[in-house]
Amino acid sequence: MKKTKTLLILGSTGSIGRQSLDVAEKQGYKVDTIAAGSNYRELELQARKLSVKSAALFDEDAAKKLKENLADTDIKVYGGESGIEEAIMSSGADTAVNAIVGLAGLKPTLSCIRSKKKLALANKETLVAGGDIVKAEAKKYGVDILPVDSEHSAIFQCLQGQPPERRLKKIILTASGGPFFGMKKKDLENVTIKQALKNPNWSMGAKITVDSASMFNKGLELIEAVRLFDVSYDMVKIVVHRESIVHSAVMYEDNAVIAQLGLPDMRIPIQYALTYPDRCESPVGELDLASLGKLTFFEPDYDTFECISICKNAIKEGGLMPAAVNSANEEANSLFREGKIKFTDIPVLIKKASELIENKSDFDADDIFSIDKSVRENVRRLV
Ligand code: NDP
Ligand code: MG
Repeated sequence: MKKTKTLLILGSTGSIGRQSLDVAEKQGYKVDTIAAGSNYRELELQARKLSVKSAALFDEDAAKKLKENLADTDIKVYGGESGIEEAIMSSGADTAVNAIVGLAGLKPTLSCIRSKKKLALANKETLVAGGDIVKAEAKKYGVDILPVDSEHSAIFQCLQGQPPERRLKKIILTASGGPFFGMKKKDLENVTIKQALKNPNWSMGAKITVDSASMFNKGLELIEAVRLFDVSYDMVKIVVHRESIVHSAVMYEDNAVIAQLGLPDMRIPIQYALTYPDRCESPVGELDLASLGKLTFFEPDYDTFECISICKNAIKEGGLMPAAVNSANEEANSLFREGKIKFTDIPVLIKKASELIENKSDFDADDIFSIDKSVRENVRRLV
């Protein structure tokens, strides 16, 4: 595994992006390229502070403003989807962090792989929609993909030292349960955006916070685990663990369970993805088990949080279905955040919109983008 020295950070203005910058600073990594969607003000501040070689924005107008604002520097500014690709391909970084939110991260992921950068991947939607394509490209270019998602980092850590013949029986994927834990379907009818945006343990971007409230996030993570660890979907068992201290676990055939624990702070898995196989001093405090007293575990409420089963059925069906439910959720999630639909409309819309697709088992990235377009249209038509 090559050592991380210079980073490229995609989605540097977001929650994971900023925490990655924090880890980079503490570890003394150079950051040569940063990219985001449209936040040109924050990207300018970051670009100046880090003296990056290049900065890229997906939004062309925002990129123009950034270019004007950075005119007094040597920093190269790129705009648009192709600009992000150019920035990635011309970056001299050995390692990329992909912290873009949503399917928008798929093409940049493929560019990172094709330019042979080790990939610390937070962007789970990419793996859910295009997992097989991403994995095949990574194999072709000899690129390592390291999980940043806390549960998958935990599983990855628990699998270190596995027996040569593996003997893995189960993956135990923990879930905080979100702000609506314990509620029933009828209680969810009138929950507000503000309530959905309050995660008990994690401070994250808006989209994933709403996904955590609906538990679609756990469904995505189930598929993410299938993709990353080559297991069947029925080997992944979800357990609600309110304290978010046990970040996930694995069970071997002898029923021994190995778990990874720590304080809920994303800088731990981000740092591990960058330093692996080394372990370095943490930017986060120590876990004190005695002061916690107890940890609790519950069976998920599948009737209330239907999104988990929607994802499970999607991976069971396979083909383009995981991509379809992901895109339907991206659209429904943003409509909910815009105040256009109710929280309980989310699973209904995902089911109806994805049922309409024509599934196929053999597909490429273009098929994923055309499914994305049609599923999003289906969702909007249904509203
Ligand atoms: P945020 O919403 O905080 O940040 C998203 C980032 O993506 C921003 O930098 C945003 O730029 C950028 N972005 C959006 N659209 C584009 C685009 N089309 N092209 C390039 N950049 C774009 O999200 P999070 O940091 O919370 O999450 C990022 C990813 O990490 C998600 O896939 C999420 O599921 C995953 N993840 C997050 C965790 C967390 O704790 N936050 C935990 C585990 C996984 P701009 O600011 O300009 O809009
Ligand atoms: Mg997670």
